[in-house]
Formats: sequence, C-alpha cells, structure tokens
Amino acid sequence: MVHLKITLRFTWRTAFHTTGNRWRWGADKALARRYDGTYVLPATSLKGALREQAERLLRGHVHICTAPAPAQMCQDPNHLCLVCRVFGNPKRPAPLRFTDMDLDQKPETTRIRAGVAISRRRRAAVPQRLYFVETTTPDFMEAHPTTLDGFFREREEAEEAAALVMLAVRALPALGAGRSRGLGWLTEAQAECQIDGAPLKQEVIERYWKQWLGGGQ
Ligand SMILES: [Zn+2]
Repeated sequence: MVHLKITLRFTWRTAFHTTGNRWRWGADKALARRYDGTYVLPATSLKGALREQAERLLRGHVHICTAPAPAQMCQDPNHLCLVCRVFGNPKRPAPLRFTDMDLDQKPETTRIRAGVAISRRRRAAVPQRLYFVETTTPDFMEAHPTTLDGFFREREEAEEAAALVMLAVRALPALGAGRSRGLGWLTEAQAECQIDGAPLKQEVIERYWKQWLGGGQ
C-alpha cells in the first residue's frame, strides 16, 4: 500500500462561521465545536468545500458526475470519475481521511453578530427574521495544521489524489458560511504532500493538472 499524507495550513483574514449543533446562549447559529468544546472547522465542511472546488475546476475538462444527488453520481464502483475516486462516493468511501481543523478560539473571544434574513426573491429584509450568529474573532486567525491521510493500492492513485486536493486548495477562495456577507475569506491556504514519507515534487503535481486542464495551467 502507498501512504499519502497531506498537511493543510489555513489562515483567515476575516471572521468566519460554520454552523455546529451546539447551543449557545444568545446565538441562533453557534460555531461548530467538538465534543470536548474545541472550536473546529469540521472535517465534513473541509471535505465538502474542497470537493466543490474540485468539481468547479474540472467540469468541462474531464468527465465528472453530478454530486451530491446520489442518483446522479457514478454508479459503478469500478469506474468512478476523478472526483469520486478521491472524495468518495455512496458506493465507495473516500480513501482519504479528513480530520477537523482546530481553531484557537474560546467562548470569550468569539463574537455574536446580528443578521437579518433577506428574502432572495423579494430582495427585502423581513424584520421578524433577525437572527444571531456566532463568528470567530474578526482579525487574522491561523488554524492548527490538519492532516489528511490515506492508503492507496498504486502510487499513481496517491499522486492523483494529492494533485486534486492541491488544485482545490489553491482555488479555495473562502471557507465557511456567510461568504456574501464578507465572512470567511482565507488569506492563505497551503498544502504539503508526502508519499511514503517523501515530499511529493511540484512537477509531478503539475503534470496531473496539465493532463486534466490542458497546457495553459
Ligand atoms: Zn463521480
């Protein structure tokens, strides 16, 4: 088996919000926290955001199915599209394991912001729909590095997964809910890949990008 390890380092320049399932006094939507109370960017949110970027970039260049509707996703586990091979599919789980990204936040440092629900159809604020959302501190915030890892049968499969995640990370403009309100813009998103403990060369990654997107990349 071939072991792929990807280390992600994210830095934000604005506050962000990812809704969790905890209750917090004064907030209708509280930030996501782990069972031990640590503020996190949940693994599922991270994976979802990267998959969305990968699909957006590849569509029109290579064949990919239409997630998240299971009926429109690849049906044959032996012939999965590139995105399903790396991020998983109802028929085959992802080889890469995502973990939560820990954030240096405490209940005393997060903010509660008021928001007004806007009816998109009428483009008017409905006064009754005032709500409160908990966000991270509004300034620079560096998350603790997080690691994705996975085991692959062939080296090529591991390289392909590394290249796709790197491509999605490069394109990731913002992470978290409330992007239209200026929340959640990333300043920096870095990824480092290792295969069986050795750093993966940038040329190898770029070769995959060229193959998928053409020479101009
Ligand atoms: Zn697919």
